[in-house]
Amino acid sequence: MSEITANNGLPRHANIVVIGGGIMGCSTLYHLAKAGMSDAILLERNKLTSGTTWHSAAQVRALRSSRNLTDLIRYSIDLYGQLEEETGQQVGWINKGSLSIAINPDRMTHIRRQAALAKLYGVAAETISAQEAGERWPLMNVDDVIGAVWSPDDGRVSPSDLCAALIKGARARGARFFEDTGVTAILTKNGRICGVETTQGRIDTEAIALCTGLWSRAAGAMAGVDVPVWPCEHFYLLTKPIASIAGNLPTLSDHDGHLYIRDDSGGLLVGCFEPMGKSIDPDRLGPDFAFQLLPEDWDHFEPMMHNALHRLPALENAEVRMLLNGPESFTPDGSFLLGEAAETRGLFLGCGMNSVGVATGGGAGMALAHTIMHGAPPMDLHEADPKRFDTSWNSAAALSARVPEILGTHYEITYPGRQHKTARNLRRLPLHQEWQAQNACFGQSFGFERPLYFDETSVPELTFDRPAWFEQVGREVMIAHEQAAIIELSSFGKIEVSGKDAASYLNRVCSADMTRSPGRVTYSLLLNEAGGILSDLTVCRFDQDHFRLHVGTASVKRDLAWLTRHLQADEVVTIKDVTEEIAMLGLMGPQATNVASALGADWLNDLGYFRTASGEIADVPVTASRVSYVGEAGWEISCQSRDAVRLYQALFRQGARPVGSLAVSAMRVEKGFMSYGHDIDTDTVPAEAGLDFTLDWSSDFIGKSALQMAAGSKPTKRIVSLVFDDEMVTPLGNEPVVGKGGLIGKTTSAAFGYRLGKPVALALIDAEYARDDEMVDIDLAGCHVAARVVTGPAFDPTGRRMRKAASA
Ligand SMILES: Cc1cc2nc3c(=O)[nH]c(=O)nc-3n(C[C@H](O)[C@H](O)[C@H](O)COP(=O)(O)OP(=O)(O)OC[C@H]3O[C@@H](n4cnc5c(N)ncnc54)[C@H](O)[C@@H]3O)c2cc1C
Repeated sequence: MSEITANNGLPRHANIVVIGGGIMGCSTLYHLAKAGMSDAILLERNKLTSGTTWHSAAQVRALRSSRNLTDLIRYSIDLYGQLEEETGQQVGWINKGSLSIAINPDRMTHIRRQAALAKLYGVAAETISAQEAGERWPLMNVDDVIGAVWSPDDGRVSPSDLCAALIKGARARGARFFEDTGVTAILTKNGRICGVETTQGRIDTEAIALCTGLWSRAAGAMAGVDVPVWPCEHFYLLTKPIASIAGNLPTLSDHDGHLYIRDDSGGLLVGCFEPMGKSIDPDRLGPDFAFQLLPEDWDHFEPMMHNALHRLPALENAEVRMLLNGPESFTPDGSFLLGEAAETRGLFLGCGMNSVGVATGGGAGMALAHTIMHGAPPMDLHEADPKRFDTSWNSAAALSARVPEILGTHYEITYPGRQHKTARNLRRLPLHQEWQAQNACFGQSFGFERPLYFDETSVPELTFDRPAWFEQVGREVMIAHEQAAIIELSSFGKIEVSGKDAASYLNRVCSADMTRSPGRVTYSLLLNEAGGILSDLTVCRFDQDHFRLHVGTASVKRDLAWLTRHLQADEVVTIKDVTEEIAMLGLMGPQATNVASALGADWLNDLGYFRTASGEIADVPVTASRVSYVGEAGWEISCQSRDAVRLYQALFRQGARPVGSLAVSAMRVEKGFMSYGHDIDTDTVPAEAGLDFTLDWSSDFIGKSALQMAAGSKPTKRIVSLVFDDEMVTPLGNEPVVGKGGLIGKTTSAAFGYRLGKPVALALIDAEYARDDEMVDIDLAGCHVAARVVTGPAFDPTGRRMRKAASA
């Protein structure tokens, strides 16, 4: 089809249109062509790299917060190292390593944790002394440096040359690009992409890769799609050549000074991630903003300049070339957007690169091309899934408030319990005022403010040791363990599925048996075609043709998209998101049954385990399910959101007391209950997680064939519980686990187990170590701490407490 072209050579049709000629667009086009999609084209409204890419500092540092994000950058490093040989176009790859210094004990812990992670992910990194750091960076003042991490494989690249090489590689495989060709409209039909209007004419297409950098929110709006990306000013200082700089140096990061530093053309490049950045009004970045910069702002840069002069005394006499101020796009959580949009089929986002676009671009372009061609990324990338943001995040007010803070978090110490300060209260739960009255400390999830714990008296100081809220969370756990707890669950995603074909449809999309009789509650998984876990959920069957699915707070947009996309044209099924309409409270603990009786709701006490029923509590119409995420007996009780305060107050009057999500989290880790995105994701198959009991082999659920093919072989990894002997250690999750033969896996969640009196963790480890009482070591910021493997739940392994007949 694509040989039918307009006069200017633009095809009338292309299988895939990549919009935007920065690093993301060029890399995506290259990988599409490499995978055989020579019909792909790239449209750039100005010139290649003219948005942000041309002025990037272009450092490439491999280590990220997760293995898969790290692997994307490692892929980039390999690619950038070999592109010149492949294409004949230089990319300016300089492999001089990187150095991160610490000037206080908490930063030292932070970089030691990073060095431990690097080991886990196979990234070369070692902790070195201040003296050694000084030897690697002779211009550096090391007087206050207490240690550093050295990563030899990192480097930097010339961003424009890199894009030229990628385009050359793409063209050699038949793909084409068109400059001065702006997309002015995105065309959809029945919720699917069908074409684009451009300044040079219309092109029909089935798929778009939206790689439009700073302009992505506006570009997404052309297709009715939320793209929560916002521009922020981003600075680096350039000096004229300095005599003492000869050759190339590693990239030096002084995170406490908010600085990164490297040589540039014989002088210095001093960039910053200041604590609070400067948001940009998108109207300042019109369509003709090409190869442009923003005005210098020395007042804003002044504190970083001060820090830079301390770190590099030689800067005092250097001649300043310019203070470069370039715009870059950021997202509300600091991770980029990669994947198909929830709202429109065929619209794939590859944007919001949060100042690591050049480092990530090689791998991210590969992953985006793969996602477009195969319908799913090559590895789990839930951290980048555009569907992780509620629509409230797409507002200008929320984004312009949040992204300046996000720029600063790049160099913050990753203390556990760190909360964002900006763009709060986007969504409030029905009981928000009650929680305020109880002095809740709030955490934000999917825009919702959720109580983390109660009786907060002052802003807690953050630490890697026992947190300030340790005692309070312990008291809340004991409420659930000894009395009756009220747990706010209203933020959970709630999806109603109804209609004549609801049961057979759910039986196909869910792994468990959905044909069980009305009144049953079923724990199930959603699997992808490869058998990887997409979501875990509980399904209440209220009626023959009426179900409600309870999914994780942050999963609802993704799960809804998956569920609607797997509905067949001839199926009579209605799918409805009722998250806002329905409130949900957990009433848990040994006294819960007395609370129910005192309220005249003995019907609750008659409800069997994993059963659901409707009734009234204190004149409030409710449905209750006898399940537990905390390992204590009780119910999850749903009512209309408008009735939530009445229900809560009735439970409170009978002695039940609120318990926050940190206590819930501690209890679920003790019980070995998994949390999506922490312990399980699409890289996990049910057997590894011990969740194969959810598989109904008699039905043809999605993912079954892949699992059947693997059925003969035992999983090589298993999720287990770990119990620490030393009650004073504070595991946080994401730490290496070491067995006799070396690294065997990593912790995925961790907490203090108040009912056990010991710290506990869940960990994904080599299956051969998944034996009760096996002793392993956990690398906590470089210190090895012993823990005992438990193959089931660490607390109450038989589930006696939560299964106990409520009235017993
Ligand atoms: C000062 C500074 C320093 C940085 N340092 C680093 C670093 O050290 N390491 C690192 O990895 N990253 C760094 N970055 C970030 C990195 O440069 C960016 O993440 C990356 O360049 C973004 O690439 P992109 O392809 O997403 O966007 P862009 O390069 O902005 O490309 C988007 C393109 O889309 C085009 N476009 C938009 N709308 C349309 C339309 N409707 N039709 C057609 N075309 C359209 C634009 O013209 C533009 O060319 C830095 C950024 C800045 C500002």
